[in-house]
Amino acid sequence: MSAPEKALVVGAGIVGTCCAVYLQREGFRVTLIDRDGPGEGCSSGNAGNFSVGSVFPQSMPGIWRKVPGMLMDPLLPLAIRWRHLPAAMPWFIRFTLNSRRRRAEEIGLALKALYDHVLDAYDELLKSAGAQDLIVRRGRLTTYESESSLHKDAYALELRRRHGIEVQILSGDEAREMEPALGPLVKRAAFLPAYAHTVNLLRLTQVLAEQFVGDGGILLRQTVKGFEGRDHGPPRVLTDAGGHDAERVVIAAGAYSRRMAAQLGSRVLLEAERGYHLSMPDPGVTFTRTIMSSDRFVTIT
Ligand SMILES: Cc1cc2nc3c(=O)[nH]c(=O)nc-3n(C[C@H](O)[C@H](O)[C@H](O)COP(=O)(O)OP(=O)(O)OC[C@H]3O[C@@H](n4cnc5c(N)ncnc54)[C@H](O)[C@@H]3O)c2cc1C
Repeated sequence: MSAPEKALVVGAGIVGTCCAVYLQREGFRVTLIDRDGPGEGCSSGNAGNFSVGSVFPQSMPGIWRKVPGMLMDPLLPLAIRWRHLPAAMPWFIRFTLNSRRRRAEEIGLALKALYDHVLDAYDELLKSAGAQDLIVRRGRLTTYESESSLHKDAYALELRRRHGIEVQILSGDEAREMEPALGPLVKRAAFLPAYAHTVNLLRLTQVLAEQFVGDGGILLRQTVKGFEGRDHGPPRVLTDAGGHDAERVVIAAGAYSRRMAAQLGSRVLLEAERGYHLSMPDPGVTFTRTIMSSDRFVTIT
């Protein structure tokens, strides 16, 4: 019998931690490295949605027509640091090309193939960790404050239906029956029963990391500084505490992955999106499922 292969995963966000757990299940001896604790990066600062019915790219057809307006209005969700634009140009060009209708639909198909497995895959991992209650399957309500804002979403809703994702169009009152905390501004809503959310983002990654360590995985708090090329085989991973060898290296360092991959000669078109999240200990309203306001570009979980 040969010794199990070693795998090293850089980044213990939700992506790296899941990779580590799955590699471990496939029989690798896995080391997971992060400069912080598991899940303490972007993975604990988001809306916690499993948007398994969002079968379309961010670059929806016609998006480029909206860009000038979005840049002019500070309340809309696009701002560009102009100094960064030349470096980001290749990404923007690809983003725009992907907004062609045919391309958007191909991307939708690829996303659907991934999304179909997401919740079952988490279920399996969380069952072994005894933490299935971290994911709640109660769907999502997308709210519209006018008939015309529902109309603007028509293509995305139609794409979902075409991919077999259930969409229920509701009146404002029907939406308030489901979520009494919604106010009178909501005139229409789309209920997407397939969606789910997590009740605790940080805990979600932490329980998976705890399970990984419990099953013999090595979790190191170190900062990856670079790589040392070798003539044969994968590179040596250099950290502030020394060097690590492994047969397989996974880079899952979130927004920092592009620079790391570039050091290994791989050009990944990855740009960091900046978003904001706010955790309110006592918001004064209760929703039982995720609410996404289509008019205000805000998700409430
Ligand atoms: C406001 C907002 C809302 C969002 N809402 C959703 C949502 O509802 N649903 C959804 O699916 N996604 C959402 N996202 C996106 C989601 O948060 C990210 O896609 C996800 O967290 C990325 O996970 P990750 O593991 O790739 O990266 P991260 O969580 O960023 O993990 C990367 C890890 O790499 C480590 N690292 C980086 N460099 C080094 C280094 N040199 N050495 C050692 N470690 C290093 C970091 O410390 C970090 O822990 C949202 C994002 C934002 C900003």
